[in-house]
Amino acid sequence: MADVTKETTAPFWEQKTLDEMTRPEWESLCDGCGRCCLVKIEDEDSGDIHLTRLSCRLLDVGSCRCSDYPNRHREVPDCIAIDPDRVRNLSWLPPTCGYRLIEERQGLRWWHPLVSGNPETVHQAGISVRTWALNEARVKVENIHRYIINDFKDGE
Ligand code: SF4
Ligand code: SF4
Repeated sequence: MADVTKETTAPFWEQKTLDEMTRPEWESLCDGCGRCCLVKIEDEDSGDIHLTRLSCRLLDVGSCRCSDYPNRHREVPDCIAIDPDRVRNLSWLPPTCGYRLIEERQGLRWWHPLVSGNPETVHQAGISVRTWALNEARVKVENIHRYIINDFKDGE
């Protein structure tokens, strides 16, 4: 007879699609990397999106958290709320993003707080922008092009 006490239940992120998640589950899928809060510049001619190592002015770079999350859309009108459709369509969403990993059926990595049980591991693994992002409020708007990076590793 099978020992049912040893059966394990897979965590929600392995069982559900993004569309099936509850609000708390959805929120917990964000690893807190801050990568999606980097300033992006769109080339007017080509439409290409360039990533910079500047963060949105509301990002607390030390914690990699939005400093005014409830009011972010009022404070920063172009802040984009991530939802399942946008996960599928936003080309600039980083490949390490928890939402993207689940949508692409890649599973969460060891450093994701849901896996490690520790919100610091996303920083320890060098995934977050904590050590290299610069708040956009600290630079002149006309100099923004100096901060373009090719990918996330260039910002480190
Ligand atoms: S890139 Fe994804 S996981 Fe990282 S902060 Fe943004 S929404 Fe969260
Ligand atoms: S308003 Fe907050 S959530 Fe939106 S991009 Fe800025 S720091 Fe990120």
